Amino acid sequence: MLQAPPAEPGMREEEVDTPALLLDLDAFEHNLDTMAAILAPTGAKLRAHAKTHKSPIIALQQMKRGAIGQCVQKVAEAEALAWGGVPDILVSNEVIAPRKLARLAALSGLAKVAVCADGEHGIAAIESAAEAAGLRMTVLVEIDCGGGRCGVAPGPEAVALAERIAGSRHLIFGGLQSYHGSAQHYRTPAQRQQAIGAAADGTRRTVEQLRQRGLDCAIVGGAGTGTFRNELASGVWNEIQAGSYAFMDADYGRNDDPPPFRQSLFVLAQVMSAPRPGLAVVDAGHKAVAIDSGPPLVHGFPGVTYAGASDEHGTLKAEDPSALPRLGQSVRLVPGHCDPTVDRHDWYVGVRKGRVECLWPVAARGGMA
Ligand code: PLP
Ligand code: MN
Repeated sequence: MLQAPPAEPGMREEEVDTPALLLDLDAFEHNLDTMAAILAPTGAKLRAHAKTHKSPIIALQQMKRGAIGQCVQKVAEAEALAWGGVPDILVSNEVIAPRKLARLAALSGLAKVAVCADGEHGIAAIESAAEAAGLRMTVLVEIDCGGGRCGVAPGPEAVALAERIAGSRHLIFGGLQSYHGSAQHYRTPAQRQQAIGAAADGTRRTVEQLRQRGLDCAIVGGAGTGTFRNELASGVWNEIQAGSYAFMDADYGRNDDPPPFRQSLFVLAQVMSAPRPGLAVVDAGHKAVAIDSGPPLVHGFPGVTYAGASDEHGTLKAEDPSALPRLGQSVRLVPGHCDPTVDRHDWYVGVRKGRVECLWPVAARGGMA
């Protein structure tokens, strides 16, 4: 059930009920504008990843600034976006379950939809769903360009799958999905450049082999917030799939040469216990902020660390007790990892210059398929 929103427009930030997912609108808009400005002079387009924000409201703001569509990871995200008015959606992931594929096919009346496959099993499942729905579905072949997750090897294996798709009456070959996930958080620019250089070689070679067989890649998609400048420089990718750039997180901030975006996403928490000097306890624990990429940072409180989390508590510590926020004070936490943090909340509380401006639902929240 969607919870009541933790704030109302016009409230001061300190009055927002905690824990709350706070979006600093000036920083957020700066990030969207910055990405649009970086991409404008290149031949590539942004197809921002909606697994980060799960919100058609945010998707449409990205598209207003030139994004050509959205990526999603799950069919439920595609539904939330299509129903919310997003006209062009790529499921940058494998979907093989017949019921999910039937739901995806059912969206074709609302939006242009494409999906990925990395094997015959998936292609046959998409083909059956398309046939049952009486339409042709667009399928991209996913290659493993180095991340070691989904995808077939670049080269002949990928070409064979593309030919299989192109040869089907129910399918359209849409191009290549080529995303190197682990490179995003490599700390040094040299590590990222090496990984994406190799990814570019395999992807370029596959595009070329497809061309020789008469198959053009309408989409060559990939890249995230950590490496997209490398993919752009290679000239191989024509669609950039960055998602976290809109919000940022503490882990991206730890990359050397961090991407040129501001922290816009916070979890607002309140100190609700200060039982002894040097300890302050906030009401944001595992259920409010993801710590898979490390604990949150305590924004604006130098010397204060988020030292431990339990379900509904976070313990803040400082060597100098006077550095800690006071009992009753609200603090902005910078999440270690933005995507799973967003998924723990029903509402974005958009703030500008200390006042609540808007409340947006996290429309595709939760473990839905
Ligand atoms: N593309 C794909 C396929 C992804 O899985 C991800 C994130 O994991 C991204 C793009 C975007 O990455 P980021 O949010 O780090 O920009
Ligand atoms: Mn992430």
